[in-house]
Amino acid sequence: MNNKYELIYEGKAKKVFTHDDLDKVIIEFKDDATAFNALKKAKFEGKGKLNCLISARIFELLMKNNIPTHFLELKNQNTMIAKKIKVIPLEIVLRNYAYGSLCKQTTFKPGTLLAKPLIDIYLKDDALNDPLITKDRIELMNIISSENLNLILDLTLKINEILKKFFQNIHLKLVDFKLEFGYDFKKNILLADEISPDNCRLWDLNQKNDIIVSLDKDRFRNDLGGLIEAYSEIHRRINNFI
Ligand code: UDP
Repeated sequence: MNNKYELIYEGKAKKVFTHDDLDKVIIEFKDDATAFNALKKAKFEGKGKLNCLISARIFELLMKNNIPTHFLELKNQNTMIAKKIKVIPLEIVLRNYAYGSLCKQTTFKPGTLLAKPLIDIYLKDDALNDPLITKDRIELMNIISSENLNLILDLTLKINEILKKFFQNIHLKLVDFKLEFGYDFKKNILLADEISPDNCRLWDLNQKNDIIVSLDKDRFRNDLGGLIEAYSEIHRRINNFI
């Protein structure tokens, strides 16, 4: 990155830099992958580029469907320009099927279709290991007003409907995904972060029988191999469809 831009923040998978416009930022997607709160780490050449391009396409799709997002434009293949936001420290997970931590914490068997989409909210706090949090705790901690929390939950359900249909069209099952939101300088709530196989579970529907083929970060979490091939396949299907 051109050194006239100052690094504001470096996360596990992205770097955020200043922009000439004070209300914008430059987000660079890294090739690093982490799992289990960064206990497991690796680098996959080309992952940053794929996640950036996939996220850009998905943000565009959501914006066409009237979902407010921070995305402005791609700068190059692994870098996007976005609106500067103040991050709300919550991770909003929506699940259509039971998998991952839900199966460890409940009696749902992996792959079960949930009777309705389930939203689980986690506190975004690495030191506390991003714990599952309740609405009452959120209110008492003054993280966000209940009005704004409801707005975020409504947006999450709408996003699920848009993404579920979209992924179905490209023969992918949207099992679950994680969203993050923030405020722009006018205090509007925007979808932020990224939407990519790093934070969505996507299963291939082009399979005979009922075997699960993950085309997402579970390839890394569960040592399945073929992560770049899986992310490239998602990118290819999205590009062929849009
Ligand atoms: N997720 C994420 N970041 C996290 C935790 C989860 O993006 O720090 C995503 C994950 O990719 C999956 C969904 O949220 O699509 C639900 O993850 P789960 O709670 O099942 O956690 P895991 O199985 O990764 O422990």
